[in-house]
Amino acid sequence: MEQTKVQIIKETDALTDALLTISHYLRDNPETAYQEHKACDYLSRFLEKQGFEVQRGAGGIETAFMARPAGGEVSRPCVAILAEYDALPKIGHGCGHNLIAAASMGAAVALGRTLGDLANGFIVVGTPAEEGGGGKARLYDADVFEGVDAAMMFHPGRLNIPAKGMLGRIKFKMEFFGKTAHASGSPDQGINALDALVAAFTHINALRQHILPDARIHGIITHGGDAPNIIPDYAAGLFYVRAASLAYREALFERIKHCAEGAALATGAKVKITVDPPAIDPFKRNPPLEEAVRINLEALGVCIDTDDGKRGSSDIGNLSQHIPCIHAYLAIVDDIPGHSIAFAQATDTDRGQQAMLNAAKMLAMTAYDFLTSATLREKVATAFSETD
Ligand SMILES: [Zn+2]
Ligand SMILES: [Zn+2]
Repeated sequence: MEQTKVQIIKETDALTDALLTISHYLRDNPETAYQEHKACDYLSRFLEKQGFEVQRGAGGIETAFMARPAGGEVSRPCVAILAEYDALPKIGHGCGHNLIAAASMGAAVALGRTLGDLANGFIVVGTPAEEGGGGKARLYDADVFEGVDAAMMFHPGRLNIPAKGMLGRIKFKMEFFGKTAHASGSPDQGINALDALVAAFTHINALRQHILPDARIHGIITHGGDAPNIIPDYAAGLFYVRAASLAYREALFERIKHCAEGAALATGAKVKITVDPPAIDPFKRNPPLEEAVRINLEALGVCIDTDDGKRGSSDIGNLSQHIPCIHAYLAIVDDIPGHSIAFAQATDTDRGQQAMLNAAKMLAMTAYDFLTSATLREKVATAFSETD
């Protein structure tokens, strides 16, 4: 192994206690999307103590930050190390973002200590609200990633893999407006908004048989009326549509709109569909970056698993459409599902801690590869321009 990578591993190991303290602090102070004030402040202060200049409120988002080694200007090529730190309502760090933040802090400090002249070639971006808030999309739109050539992070999970596909997603509200009437005395005078919503569900259920196997449509009824003896004049549901490509995401959303319009026509209710922005884009993969990650993980003794084909969505997808991105997974559990209390607990097992340390090393090593190899950068750029 190259001397610099050996040094990166040593520096990361020396940070073990500090990184575990970060992970524990976040676990004990879970904050949901855009409310991550303690986390943002804690991580900013940590980086300042480690010799970074930190800009709080990056991109006009209060709980985002951007940091770089103090003194000197950011140079090109430039890598962004991303830190997520938002938690889930009620179940805390059931997605393991406490480990993501700790690993990224470790990678940043190890890089700062080993890169020498290249230390201006990376920044750290604190990206809030991954869970439903699309923080990375907003930060990109606010030009926080201006001048960044690649962005990198890891996510804890059930497998060790350099990357996997992620689905694009649109979150939307479907509302039907009808007319109240006595449900027994004068039902002929009413227009039933709940019937319209139920009909829309039925149309969507029929549509599901005819969509691509990796696409998803799922929804709930959030308002179904006020009393059984009143014909409901208002009904509402919240839905997600997910697809592996931008084009299919849009096409499927159009067909869902038709389901809603058909239900409105059949019942006489009026329909309104409102998108909750930002729409999440599918993850654009980059094979040369994945290969660099794989080599580094194997050098760290991590065995790479086979992709299980299970797909979610994340705002890293939006960033990946503009900048080559790494979103590697390291296993901390076998069968425990994400977004659970058991997963949050798994972040503090030996396996969880080890995965976080390996992730910190892998991120720093891969950033080093990217910054020092013009050949890798060229391959990454070519793959990026050739992929949809
Ligand atoms: Zn999650
Ligand atoms: Zn997550």
